[in-house]
Amino acid sequence: MTAFKEHLSKHDIKPSVQRLKIYEYLHNSHNHPTADDIYRALAPSTPTLSKTTVYNTMKLFISNGVATVLNIEGNELRYDADTSTHGHFKCKGCGNVYDFRIARAPEFNGVEGFRIDKYEINLKGYCNVCKPKL
Ligand SMILES: [Zn+2]
Ligand SMILES: [Zn+2]
Repeated sequence: MTAFKEHLSKHDIKPSVQRLKIYEYLHNSHNHPTADDIYRALAPSTPTLSKTTVYNTMKLFISNGVATVLNIEGNELRYDADTSTHGHFKCKGCGNVYDFRIARAPEFNGVEGFRIDKYEINLKGYCNVCKPKL
């Protein structure tokens, strides 16, 4: 908890109890939760928590660089405390979102000389558990 506190403070986020709980949950869950998932997981132990607080906290986390948002779903935002460069694989069978490392940045043709601030690699398909059941 102290490490999380320092991490948030370092990114200009006042580490309130609710923010700490949300960050801790996001950091410890590797399933890229939605705001709903976060709310449902924390509400029983945090009666004062509202969905709006979760949304606003996530907005703050993203703009201050302690979380990222995934655009892998059409209308559903999923969050990630892992802000390092990595790709996501969404399984169409179980719905899990898997992280994968990108060994080498791909070559981009057509944007030579541009400044690229961000790139995302989102893959979709079936994981090793779901593929055999097709
Ligand atoms: Zn699967
Ligand atoms: Zn991820």
